[in-house]
Amino acid sequence: MSFAHETKIGLVSLAEGLKHDCCRRAGLYGILISAGVFTRTKCKLVTTSQELAGLTMKWLRSLCGIDGNLYITDRKSGEEDERRASKITIPQKKDLDRLFRVFGYSPDEPETDINTGMFRCQSCLVSFVRGVFLSAGTVTNPEKGYHLELSLPTPELAANLAALLSENGLELKSTVRKNENVLYCKDSENIENFLAFIGANTAAFTIMNKKIERELRSGANRLANGELANLGKTVAAAGDQIAAINALKASGELDRMPDELRATALLRLEHFDATLSELAALHDPPITKSGVNHRLKKIINWCGEPPRA
Ligand SMILES: [Zn+2]
Repeated sequence: MSFAHETKIGLVSLAEGLKHDCCRRAGLYGILISAGVFTRTKCKLVTTSQELAGLTMKWLRSLCGIDGNLYITDRKSGEEDERRASKITIPQKKDLDRLFRVFGYSPDEPETDINTGMFRCQSCLVSFVRGVFLSAGTVTNPEKGYHLELSLPTPELAANLAALLSENGLELKSTVRKNENVLYCKDSENIENFLAFIGANTAAFTIMNKKIERELRSGANRLANGELANLGKTVAAAGDQIAAINALKASGELDRMPDELRATALLRLEHFDATLSELAALHDPPITKSGVNHRLKKIINWCGEPPRA
């Protein structure tokens, strides 16, 4: 399975767990506005992700009372996970009218405007951008290189989206390729930020780890000295922790953590070169070395859900 497909499966299940209808609506809006066709007379989404097709059909029904048409085609060639394409259309004019009302459009507003007025909370924006990525985005496996892109149906939408993302600290470049209007980034840090923003924490970690591994390897090649190789191991462990904590910070998860975990996370960021014993002593009141180790493991494995009572 491709890295992008795997990332999208995780994002679909995150979207399915959304608690508020406002965020679900914003997610559906993101999916459809960046689909192949989104106008008042025609709406068409083609995707190779059956998970995304399932989610879109479900949300159309539960949020808008619309039964979309779903066709699944078998392709003969292509990557294994890209053989089956799902196509969703909304054939009825009255359903399209309803859809545009749900998304808060006034009758003569251009379809390429992004109606941020329908976002009710900060999570709505996140859900919207996640929807855009699910529908129009892809990300390259960091083993092969750093590349994330969104391919949009019109230049107007691409420009509006780039501006909205930029307001939220996500910088993408824009280009036109054949008939696609592409927003992209090729530097690992912007890719990590984008993925962390939409809650693709595992993918963001994978990219950070790959980068650290590359940096250490190129560093290690220059070092013949055994002592420095050992230092490399300590730095690698701290690097993983710091990468994880930075991603949690970027996605806002850090603020949702219990105080004691957050305190340890912030100390680690501040003292990136401290040993576990030194870190333990820096706590107020000090805790044990195994206590620090335990908390750091919890932080690295934090998956965004608060522990259930
Ligand atoms: Zn919301």
